[in-house]
Amino acid sequence: MRNLLLIAIILFISLPSYAQNEDEIRVLLFTGGHDFDRGAFFGMLEDMEGFTISEVKHPNANDYFLESRASEYDVILFYDMVQEISEEQKAGFESLVEEGIGLVFLHHSLVSYQSWDFFKHVMGGRYHESGAKASNYKHEVKLNAKVIAPDHPVMEGISDFMLFDEIYGNVEILNKVTPLLKTDHPESMPLLAWAQEPSPKTRSVYIQPGHGPEVFALEPFQLLLMQSLAWAAFR
Ligand SMILES: [Zn+2]
Repeated sequence: MRNLLLIAIILFISLPSYAQNEDEIRVLLFTGGHDFDRGAFFGMLEDMEGFTISEVKHPNANDYFLESRASEYDVILFYDMVQEISEEQKAGFESLVEEGIGLVFLHHSLVSYQSWDFFKHVMGGRYHESGAKASNYKHEVKLNAKVIAPDHPVMEGISDFMLFDEIYGNVEILNKVTPLLKTDHPESMPLLAWAQEPSPKTRSVYIQPGHGPEVFALEPFQLLLMQSLAWAAFR
């Protein structure tokens, strides 16, 4: 009888936490192709409650699109910067977007796949590495961030803030995106974050800041990232 009681107590204690895990947003994180401060970045991710993060690194990360394993996640967080992708992997990604997946593109992922237009369409823009309309970057810049869509779920509880991070200039931004955050800094691209629904079941967000520890430590940036992941995941 005492054993039964013990089992009942253990079940009672363990059930609620099991239910909580079921509610967690499953994030598939793509990295590789560009260095970043792993300690500071993963320190920030570990402090985010309600998310389970699984990292895959290039050169093998895009195989997730071949095996449909990416569909086991609610949202993909792109923090990679790569050009290599096979036609089969592209097709796998395109069907995933059609079936429905959350997509959050962070910082240097804007440089990935310079000649793949479908990726530009779901990202909402492109940093051009070369050519007549080449983009540019500048490190360690202090700039302002102004909220331009205060009623959008991604922006909930976020007010205008200052940040210290890398900026990008002369970037192509597609007209169809919903602007979320802008800056007055003359050398930066005018938008710092935007959202869109590239297919009826897929939502995407692009966030430009995200180079280093100074911005990872900022509460408005953390909120922006968490709420982007949640919104893209239809939560
Ligand atoms: Zn950077």
